[in-house]
Amino acid sequence: MATNIILLGPPGAGKGTQARRLIEERGLVQLSTGDMLREARSSGTEMGQLVAKVMDRGELVTDEIVIGLIREKLDQGGNGFIFDGFPRTLAQADALEGLMKDEGQQIDAVVEMRVDDTALVSRISGRFTCGNCGEVYHDVTKPTKAEGVCDVCGSTDLRRRADDNAESLKTRLMEYYKKTSPLIGYYYAKGNLHPVDGLAEIDQVASAVSAVLNGTGSKT
Ligand code: ADP
Ligand code: ADP
Ligand code: ZN
Repeated sequence: MATNIILLGPPGAGKGTQARRLIEERGLVQLSTGDMLREARSSGTEMGQLVAKVMDRGELVTDEIVIGLIREKLDQGGNGFIFDGFPRTLAQADALEGLMKDEGQQIDAVVEMRVDDTALVSRISGRFTCGNCGEVYHDVTKPTKAEGVCDVCGSTDLRRRADDNAESLKTRLMEYYKKTSPLIGYYYAKGNLHPVDGLAEIDQVASAVSAVLNGTGSKT
């Protein structure tokens, strides 16, 4: 039976970092709408050009676009999916429910990564990623072992995101509170919300997420 989970949390909460752990440890497939949209941008597709400015401002792109992106990937399931950065609106959550039903599947757990806003600024401003393998780093909390070289794949193509600046973060946080945070209540009401302390160290957060997936996590 596949396990499908949603990682829910504000920008910088650690969703991508934990998703990578779950891929490795459980063979789950990560579906990050942020990564898909950045890929569309860099390959210069029409849709990529359309969303570039919206993303740089830190606003959400339309539900129609991201639901379309997710729909295309749902036949690549394997052991299950990690939805990372999707859904971000109630309309997206409803659409996901319908798509999962069509596939004869369900969302098994929604992991809410709780991090306070003051931590998010330093999380976002210190973030960089490997352009080759996608490993996520941080200037202070997770630097590369050798300066300028990815620990995982040895690439020197380390990148910072155009939208990882204080101005865009303000908008992203506002979007999160206005449009995404209602999902916490939505999944609570459905009975599959599991909060974890996202401020703990990366390994500890991973253990907490693992406990949820093993069915021993705190259910609120
Ligand atoms: P973060 O790491 O800050 O949580 P993401 O990489 O998930 O950010 O998303 C980057 C940007 O891509 C968002 O600010 C938004 O413009 C767009 N985006 C990503 N996922 C969605 C989504 N599900 N709905 C709408 N816009 C999205
Ligand atoms: P999100 O996908 O939710 O936007 P990321 O996984 O990209 O978040 O993490 C944002 C930044 O915070 C990255 O630089 C990452 O290395 C760092 N980070 C992630 N989890 C932790 C943690 N538990 N403690 C300290 N830093 C973390
Ligand atoms: Zn790498």
